Amino acid sequence: MKNETAIIVGAGLVGSLWAVFLARRGYQVKVFERRADMRAAGYYGGKSINLAMSERGWKAVDQAGIREKLEKVAIPMPGRMIHNLGGDVVFQPYGRAGEAIYSVSRGGLNLELLHIAGEFPNVEFLFEHRCVEVDLNNPVITFEDMKTGEIKTLDAPLIFGTDGAFSAVRYALQRTDRFNYRQFYLEHGYKELTIPPNENGSHRMDPDALHIWPRGNHMLIALPNADGSFTCTLFLPFEGEVSFEHLKNDADVLAFFGRYFPDAVPLMPTLLHDFWANPTSSLVTVQCSPWQWQGRILLLGDAAHAIVPFYGQGMNAGFEDCTILDAMLDEMGGDWSKTIPAFAQKRVADGHAIAELAQRNFIEMRDLVADPKFLLRKKITADLYAKFPKEFLPVYSMVTFSNTPYHVAMHEDDAQNALFREILAIPDIENKWDGPEVERVFRDWLTKK
Ligand SMILES: Cc1cc2nc3c(=O)[nH]c(=O)nc-3n(C[C@H](O)[C@H](O)[C@H](O)COP(=O)(O)OP(=O)(O)OC[C@H]3O[C@@H](n4cnc5c(N)ncnc54)[C@H](O)[C@@H]3O)c2cc1C
Repeated sequence: MKNETAIIVGAGLVGSLWAVFLARRGYQVKVFERRADMRAAGYYGGKSINLAMSERGWKAVDQAGIREKLEKVAIPMPGRMIHNLGGDVVFQPYGRAGEAIYSVSRGGLNLELLHIAGEFPNVEFLFEHRCVEVDLNNPVITFEDMKTGEIKTLDAPLIFGTDGAFSAVRYALQRTDRFNYRQFYLEHGYKELTIPPNENGSHRMDPDALHIWPRGNHMLIALPNADGSFTCTLFLPFEGEVSFEHLKNDADVLAFFGRYFPDAVPLMPTLLHDFWANPTSSLVTVQCSPWQWQGRILLLGDAAHAIVPFYGQGMNAGFEDCTILDAMLDEMGGDWSKTIPAFAQKRVADGHAIAELAQRNFIEMRDLVADPKFLLRKKITADLYAKFPKEFLPVYSMVTFSNTPYHVAMHEDDAQNALFREILAIPDIENKWDGPEVERVFRDWLTKK
C-alpha cells in the first residue's frame, strides 16, 4: 500500500468511480462529499433521473473491475421509439444488431459505486463535508463540516475536483491568470415525470427503447426502469409561447399534455402530482481550460466539462476521463506531475467537442427525428454503413459505440453533414436513395477527405 494521499472532492458518479481506480493503485483515498451518506439511507437523495450508459462508460467500469455488478441493473435500449403527434410509433435502431445503449438509474449507479469504493480499506468517505476553499499556493484544502460547522484545513498534495458543474475546486482555478471559462444556459428547462408500471409490474410501453415525443421546440423522452416504470423528462423552454411559464395550473398542464402528448397522458396517472412536486431544472454547459494546476490539481467529469444531456454522454465522458487518465499514468511511470498536465492538454479538445455534439443532437432529437428529410438521411446512412463498413461509420455510432476521441467524431460530423448536403440535393433523391448517384457522391467525398 502506498503512503501517498489523494483527495477527491465530490462523490457523485465520476468521483466515486475515480476513487475505485485510485484505490486499486493503492493510494490512501479521501473522498469529501457535501451530501449525506446515501448508503446509510439506502437511497439517493439527488435527482432521480436515469441515464443512458454506452461504450465509453462500460469501458471505464470494466477497467475498474466492476462491470458485472453494474450489468445486472442496466436495461438495453437498441433504438429509439418515435411517438408522432398522430399516434403512430416508429422504431429507429441506434446501431447494428446487438448494439444498444443502456438505461441505468443515476441514483442506483451512484449508490453501487459508493458501495464498491467503500469496500477498499484505503478509501475513506467524509460526507457532509463541503469544500469551501482550495489554496493553490500552499497545497491545502479547506472543508466545512456541515454537521458541526467546524472548518477543517488539511494538506492536499494531490486533488481531484469531481464536484460537478458548479465545482468549488474549479472556482479556485477560475481566479488564476489565463484561465478560460465559459458557461451558458439553454433556454429550455427540464422536469422529471413518471410512467408507473402496470398492476402486474410490467412496463406500460415497450421497454426495449428510449421513447421520444419530438415536438419541434420541445420534447418528452422516457427511459425504462427495472421495476416496470419509465422515468420521463419533459424538455421545454422556460419562456415563450409554448413554455413552462404558461403552465400555471392543472388545467394548463392537462391541456398542454393533451395537445402535444395525447398517447402518453393515459399512461401517466400521476402526471399532475409529478408536475407540481418535481422542480423545473436548468441545463448548463461549462467549458474551461486548463483543467489542471501545477500538475497536482485536476478537474474531472462535469467540473471540467458540463454538457447538455442530448447525446447521453455527460457521465460517459466523465467515466472516459478516468480510463484515459489511468492509462496515461501508466505510460508516464506513475508520475502525476507529468501525467496531469499532459492529460489536461490532450483531453480538453474532446470536452469541447462533446459539448458541441450534444448541442447539435438536441436539434436532431426534438425536431429532426420526425422530419422526412432527416429520416431519409438516416436510411441512406444505414445503407452506406452496410455497404461500406470499413470506410463509413455513422457519427452516432462513433460517439456511442466506439472509443474514438470526441474531437475526431466532431470533425467527422462536419464532414458527413457536407456529404449529406450533396446527397440530399440529388434530384428525386427519395426514389434514388440507394442508387449509383449516391454511391458516386459518396466515393468522391471519400477521396476528398
Ligand atoms: C437531465 C439529465 C440527463 C442526463 N442524461 C445523461 C445520460 O443519459 N448519459 C450520460 O452519460 N450523462 C447524462 N447526464 C449527465 C450526467 O448526469 C453528468 O455528466 C454526471 O452526473 C457527471 O458526474 P460528476 O460526478 O462529474 O458530477 P455530479 O454527478 O454532479 O457529482 C458531483 C458531486 O460533487 C458534490 N459536490 C458539489 N460541490 C461540492 C463541494 N463544494 N464540496 C463537496 N462536494 C461537492 C455533489 O454533491 C455531487 O455529489 C444527464 C444530465 C442531466 C441533467
